[in-house]
Amino acid sequence: MSRAFNFCAGPAALPEAVLQQAQADLVDWQRRGCSIMEMSHRGADFVAIAERAEQDLRDLLAIPDNYKVLFLQGGATQQFAQVPMNLLGGKASADYICTGVWSEKAIAEAKKFAQVNVAATDVANHFRAVPDVSTWQLDNHAAYLHYTPNETIHGVEFDFIPSVDVPLVADYSSSILSEPLDVSKFGLIYAGAQKNIGPAGIVVVIVREDLLGRYAAGMPTIMDYAVAAKNGSMYNTPPTYSWYLSGLVFQWLKAQGGLEAIAALNARKAAKLYGAIDASGFYANPVAIANRSRMNVPFTLADARLEATFLQEAEAQHLLNLAGHRSVGGMRASIYNAVPEAAVDALIDFMADFERRHG
Ligand code: PMP
Repeated sequence: MSRAFNFCAGPAALPEAVLQQAQADLVDWQRRGCSIMEMSHRGADFVAIAERAEQDLRDLLAIPDNYKVLFLQGGATQQFAQVPMNLLGGKASADYICTGVWSEKAIAEAKKFAQVNVAATDVANHFRAVPDVSTWQLDNHAAYLHYTPNETIHGVEFDFIPSVDVPLVADYSSSILSEPLDVSKFGLIYAGAQKNIGPAGIVVVIVREDLLGRYAAGMPTIMDYAVAAKNGSMYNTPPTYSWYLSGLVFQWLKAQGGLEAIAALNARKAAKLYGAIDASGFYANPVAIANRSRMNVPFTLADARLEATFLQEAEAQHLLNLAGHRSVGGMRASIYNAVPEAAVDALIDFMADFERRHG
């Protein structure tokens, strides 16, 4: 069987070329007689792989020199705690914008460490838009502002970068590397790997150097960004294979023409899919047009009883993982960087055919 089109929200599709390279490298990497998984993380070979991955990521995002790039573990979920542990710097409170389930989880965790001021939330509107900035109620004493540029479950994406006087912290898990980004606007960016970076098991943190070292008493060493930075993310054994695969994805992205090229492709893919949904009268997406995610496209069917049939028929046509998140139901097509335009075309054709037969 040839590879299917995979619309999974995460762990998500990887570029086929990356998987093929990994397959070629798997058993015996560059005639060293062993795989990357079997090498010391401190040996010259792996250190070169790790450094190249970091450099390629720096090139792709044009990360300024006064930012550290960390490759950590524990996923984005660990960052929900690690951010307040490291960034409060003696202050008591932090601002959060709530645009969906992942914002809510970040807020719940931060409450263990800080007084959380939810400066704006779209919960009453069932997370269908980014609250207008004029309604945000920021706290003058906040240590930082945290937000989720792309909410993976609700498919809600910010169409702007907030401008605030405190360090801006962003959970970019589901939209990092989907378009160029001005990193200098942020104090800290974090992103779980398993969507646009690589396989699960790694989380990338990009942090401005002056925010390091605000050590909170009693913080475990492994949680300290400054320790990770000082040790090149090798204070303990890093997830070497995930790091290597992420590096292959960065090389692949460069070969696609970098983030401007991938952003144009992503815009085209999303416009096609939303266009088909809006034109149908059978499928619907409830998100405010300006905040529709380019990465995660949730949609409903006119008759929810057809959902199981839709998923079954889609799978039979090699269109995988289209079920919405268990907390919201419906359908969701995640169309990250590695999901080709042909996958979106095939999905649109299938949806039109399904509507003709069942609509
Ligand atoms: N934040 C966002 C925006 C996510 O989409 C996810 C995972 N889907 C997470 C956080 C949690 O990531 P992890 O499972 O890597 O902890």
